[in-house]
Amino acid sequence: MKNEPSKINIVLFYDYTYLRITVRNRNLIKTMQKLTLFGAGWCPNTLKAKVFLKVHNIPFEYINVEVSEIATKKIEKYLDEPPVVPTLLMDDKIIPNPDEEQLAKLLGINTDFRVMLYGADWCPDCLRAKAFLRENEINFMHLDVDLVEGATEVVTKINKGKRIIPTVIINEMPYSNPNNTILREVLNLPERDNLPVFDVAIIGGGAAGLTTSIYAQRDRFSSIILEKKIIGGNAYLTETIENYPGFQNISGPKLMTRMAEQAETYGAKLDIGSEVRSFQKDPQFFTIDTTSGEVRARSIVLAVGSTYKQLRILGEKELIGAGVHFCATCDGAFYRDKEVLVIGGGNSALEEGIFLARFCKKVTIVHRKPTFSASETYIEKLATIDNIETRLDITPVAFEAKGNGDFEGLRIQQNANGKEELLTADGAFIFIGLKPNTGFLKKTPVELDKKGFIATESGRTETNVEGIFAAGDCRQGAYAQVAAATGEGVMASYAVRNYLRNN
Ligand SMILES: Cc1cc2nc3c(=O)[nH]c(=O)nc-3n(C[C@H](O)[C@H](O)[C@H](O)COP(=O)(O)OP(=O)(O)OC[C@H]3O[C@@H](n4cnc5c(N)ncnc54)[C@H](O)[C@@H]3O)c2cc1C
Repeated sequence: MKNEPSKINIVLFYDYTYLRITVRNRNLIKTMQKLTLFGAGWCPNTLKAKVFLKVHNIPFEYINVEVSEIATKKIEKYLDEPPVVPTLLMDDKIIPNPDEEQLAKLLGINTDFRVMLYGADWCPDCLRAKAFLRENEINFMHLDVDLVEGATEVVTKINKGKRIIPTVIINEMPYSNPNNTILREVLNLPERDNLPVFDVAIIGGGAAGLTTSIYAQRDRFSSIILEKKIIGGNAYLTETIENYPGFQNISGPKLMTRMAEQAETYGAKLDIGSEVRSFQKDPQFFTIDTTSGEVRARSIVLAVGSTYKQLRILGEKELIGAGVHFCATCDGAFYRDKEVLVIGGGNSALEEGIFLARFCKKVTIVHRKPTFSASETYIEKLATIDNIETRLDITPVAFEAKGNGDFEGLRIQQNANGKEELLTADGAFIFIGLKPNTGFLKKTPVELDKKGFIATESGRTETNVEGIFAAGDCRQGAYAQVAAATGEGVMASYAVRNYLRNN
């Protein structure tokens, strides 16, 4: 049996500017010797020094000079006459009454950078931001909104009512879900070196992209996966996958982590947090402009997938992130024991509704049509769950907020008689379909169909541009399933192989 994580009760300074964590010189930490702080309970400078050391995660022994004779004896040889508190003992070095500046200097702390990340383990952008900070050796404090008492309130306060994670505080300035470019700029990190010319650059790290790279690497072609968010794509955000051959039931993150590990084992380079903005064909290779710098490759596979569609009704824009969501696995945990609405009637809506019902008090599924378009398996399952209610044949009109800006509910209109009603809830999840992530291709010669999907001949991955291929959900006619996307990844890798061998 898995133990539930216990809630950590830490005193959180609500004014987040007091919580500071810093970039530290790694070598100094490794070689840092034992620290002892002599102080007294009544002394404000002792308190300041203690807070400074704790906040910067510096281990130290604290000796209260007033407490016992033993303590007094222990410190006599170190303290001046009359004794000065606080006094810091760093190996044999005695530092009387050090201020913050002195402490920072002594401990190799660069107080120019103070980084705190409010996030959660289930949030893809948090993983991405944490990976970026670690890669760049930035020491940061991670405050898990699920575990740290008051952390969600701090996030909500900073984001004016919206629960946006990661919220990163750098030098006392909050950044809501900053991308890696913003992190790089704010932290004053140098631009990364240019990369060599890869045989294939795969744009998008979902099922299609990862499979292409596994096959390409096994064919001894070097590949780089450029992924703007998190490796695994939409499948990573899916709680359970029950139709991927070979697995009766596997969690999306588990399946996709395995695919990513397989790609890495064969030597693929995974570049997480790199959003591709455009590319151009130079005589010998494609030059790809990403938010993390320039990448060069002899061929490109577009495996950018698709994104959730919005309802485009009143109040939606204002409440996104503050009651209105598009991913149950990402944001569902905010609604434990609460009531939520799910909007949509296809497989995704029902699957996510069933997932939410596992920990929400009540789930109401709202659909425009009189019947669900989802497969029978989901419809049958739905009927067996007590805390799911369905409202069919109604049109969503507007999301409404309370006077304080908190989410109140969804105003709906009954199609049969035009009657309006407010369905109150704590939050809403919209699952009404996907649109391809191909906006950036409009600046390129790659041909798109009317809906924005990448045009290819039926059953092929070649686009209209030589050396550029498309695979997975972003391709015209795709089946929008994980197994189909992996299959398209295989097809794309074969097409790339033929192209590279002839060019
Ligand atoms: C809620 C939900 C539940 C689902 N459940 C199932 C299921 O049970 N079974 C099943 O078979 N399928 C399911 N699917 C469908 C399945 O997830 C997709 O078919 C599959 O993930 C498609 O893979 P893909 O690689 O084509 O695209 P995606 O998984 O969408 O991956 C594309 C990747 O490209 C990245 N990207 C986009 N633009 C750029 C850019 N400019 N630069 C860099 N990176 C970029 C994205 O961040 C993303 O990671 C579900 C989908 C959803 C939304």
